[in-house]
Amino acid sequence: MLSYRAARKIVTDVTLNLRHEIPSEELDLNTRLASAVGRTLLQEIFADRHYPPFDRAMRDGYAVRSADLGEVPRTLRVIGECRAGTVFDAEVAKGQCVLIMTGAPVPRGADAVVMLEYTEPGPPCSLDLIAFDRTAKPGQNIVFAGSEAAQGKKVLHRGQRLGYAELALAAQVGATRVRVARRPSVALLSTGDEVVPIDVEPGEYQIRNSNCVSLAAQVVLSGARFVQLGNAADSREDLREQMVQGLQEDMLVISGGVSKGKYDLVESVLGALGAEFLFDSVDIRPGHPAVFATCGGKPVFGLPGNPVSTMVTFELFATLSIDILSGAEPRALPLFRARLAAAAERAAALTHFIPARVSWESGEPMVTELTHQGSADIVALTESNCFLVMRPEHLQIAAGELVDVLPRRGSL
Ligand code: AMP
Ligand code: MG
Repeated sequence: MLSYRAARKIVTDVTLNLRHEIPSEELDLNTRLASAVGRTLLQEIFADRHYPPFDRAMRDGYAVRSADLGEVPRTLRVIGECRAGTVFDAEVAKGQCVLIMTGAPVPRGADAVVMLEYTEPGPPCSLDLIAFDRTAKPGQNIVFAGSEAAQGKKVLHRGQRLGYAELALAAQVGATRVRVARRPSVALLSTGDEVVPIDVEPGEYQIRNSNCVSLAAQVVLSGARFVQLGNAADSREDLREQMVQGLQEDMLVISGGVSKGKYDLVESVLGALGAEFLFDSVDIRPGHPAVFATCGGKPVFGLPGNPVSTMVTFELFATLSIDILSGAEPRALPLFRARLAAAAERAAALTHFIPARVSWESGEPMVTELTHQGSADIVALTESNCFLVMRPEHLQIAAGELVDVLPRRGSL
């Protein structure tokens, strides 16, 4: 009995042990920004100067000496203005203030910025007087030089994923060329005599190869790149030939052919190629017969061929190896809790991943199980935005209880 959590740990530990050096490349954020999104940084990046570089006004308003506003209302004399990108190069003395814009440096002498909204023009005929009716605290609405990052501070570290904030930070500190991990290549192989390429009209008892499409999309969402091997017939020779080819890539993912049927030959052919098997079933539904092995130093996944099983097992297990081969920390499953809309029940003592829909209309997350025809029903899956997760020790859940929900990546 192997729980999906234990299986995830095995995948993580084993892939970490396989990892040698992560191939890297340098990307220029001017020309290859799109390609940099989601990559793993393989260098450290330091602040090239203080951030902010000067004491910066956070609001449009007046730069004042807070001591002047110890008692309010009070009127101060405006001695000039300071726009973003410029400096007001004189000291603000007692009783004086400077009109200042967001992003401008706070002039010497001033120690607070009062928002425009809290000021009034002074008495008529005295255009340079401004009335303040609130006290000001020292430092208010100012971000001091170096308080975000002092010059030389490490701001991005090796292994960090480049999301939009990290890319913006690299750009901010002038690191326009970044060394990142290459995207690992994932070979995709489907199996089955009944499977035809998607652009071929299937015969009456044949089906189009949708798994190689869902897997490719999942590989891309995981930050890797795919290499389509196509489909292997349920024959040892064909499987062997294609697997050998697939093992040229960083990782091999196979769909179908891992159950107990007479023509489920994937494990046996992998075994003949010298694979070491770490598991060949997990206590989940869909996806029970999922296989994880290593072969020639590469992680290999044999995922059951029913389309939803293939998708779920890829999400649960293959994503971990991709994270690690990308030089990043393996990501935790982003489970969250939602209230169950209608009672749910399952008989088999497994962890169930059930197509479901979560909504926030009532203010808190509410999850509804969708009717579906089992693990081949992609039609129902496209109505879902998450999986309701039911654990073996909790297979009867009343309406209104809190349950675990796994977002469906790309849809939630
Ligand atoms: P298997 O795991 O090989 O026993 O296949 C289980 C079910 O999934 C069968 O109904 C197959 O026809 C179907 N299936 C297998 N491979 C694919 C594929 N590449 N695309 C869509 N369905 C598939
Ligand atoms: Mg098959």
